[in-house]
Amino acid sequence: MSVPAAFDYHPVQTVDEAIALLQQYGDEAKILAGGHSLLPAMKLRLSQPEHLIDIGKVDGLSYIRQEHDAIAVGALTTYVTLLHSDLLRQNFPILIEGTELIGDQQVRNRGTIGGSIAHSDPAADMPGIVLALKAHTTIQGPAGKRTILADDFFIDTFTTALEAEELVTEIRFPLLPAHSGSAYEKLENKASHYAVAGCAAIVTLDANGTCQAASIAITGAATTTARAKATEAALVGKKLTGSVIEEAASHAADGLTMIADLHGSEEYRRQMATVITRRAITRALSRASK
Ligand SMILES: Cc1cc2nc3c(=O)[nH]c(=O)nc-3n(C[C@H](O)[C@H](O)[C@H](O)COP(=O)(O)OP(=O)(O)OC[C@H]3O[C@@H](n4cnc5c(N)ncnc54)[C@H](O)[C@@H]3O)c2cc1C
Repeated sequence: MSVPAAFDYHPVQTVDEAIALLQQYGDEAKILAGGHSLLPAMKLRLSQPEHLIDIGKVDGLSYIRQEHDAIAVGALTTYVTLLHSDLLRQNFPILIEGTELIGDQQVRNRGTIGGSIAHSDPAADMPGIVLALKAHTTIQGPAGKRTILADDFFIDTFTTALEAEELVTEIRFPLLPAHSGSAYEKLENKASHYAVAGCAAIVTLDANGTCQAASIAITGAATTTARAKATEAALVGKKLTGSVIEEAASHAADGLTMIADLHGSEEYRRQMATVITRRAITRALSRASK
């Protein structure tokens, strides 16, 4: 059985305490939230932090509440808590259906929204949903708080805009305009349920049923979660007929660096991204039209 390298364990009660320890130990320290990405990586010795800063008992980092025209979610909110939220269910069905597809019950009991986006695994589901919903991430560090749009947060595989001494404290989802529909689709790895190719799609229609705005994010298939800008451009200003959606979806992988591994070649993933994107847009449209 694989076991992690030795480390010192630091349970903290406040965000400030966590930041002070990050300042003290720098690259040798890692934040521990749900542990469902970090601990497997440590057991495989892919990650060997000398200091683990456990934020699991920090008060005030697990909440879901409406604030003006957005819904704010604390970084430590677990997937299972997201699934029980009527506020999220009413406003962001995409967030609920995407979360339902994450891992298994144990993973959903422990995994946190903040941990998922901080980890920035290209095969994870939450980053694509956060990106498509144009969420803002609140980050706290020694210099105080700053807020970053999801477009600027996900940089590359396992790389975000987070600095070493910062942590994610909140993800803020702006409410969608009227006549918007959203959907999440993925082709999953049958063992882990991670995305081999996934798509988070949001479309907004005007009074005539023409697509006014589209936000499409691809997960799993490429080296980082990314917006499919060419697909979005091919939807906006048009009536979303089957052929328009099909043509737009054929651009899902444009500009992305596709992954090739034992779950699929680059070509396979490109094709699957197209198929999954077509399905996600079609379902998002049916919800927008209701
Ligand atoms: C068997 C299995 C199947 C899975 N299947 C899926 C799946 O289908 N889809 C999917 O999306 N995910 C899947 N996951 C991953 C799961 O969603 C993780 O829980 C999630 O990616 C990380 O959240 P966490 O709270 O567990 O973070 P942790 O594992 O505690 O931390 C992950 C990383 O983020 C950092 N971090 C955590 N919280 C913060 C914070 N607030 N601020 C700054 N840095 C932070 C940590 O230092 C670490 O580097 C699976 C995991 C397992 C074990």
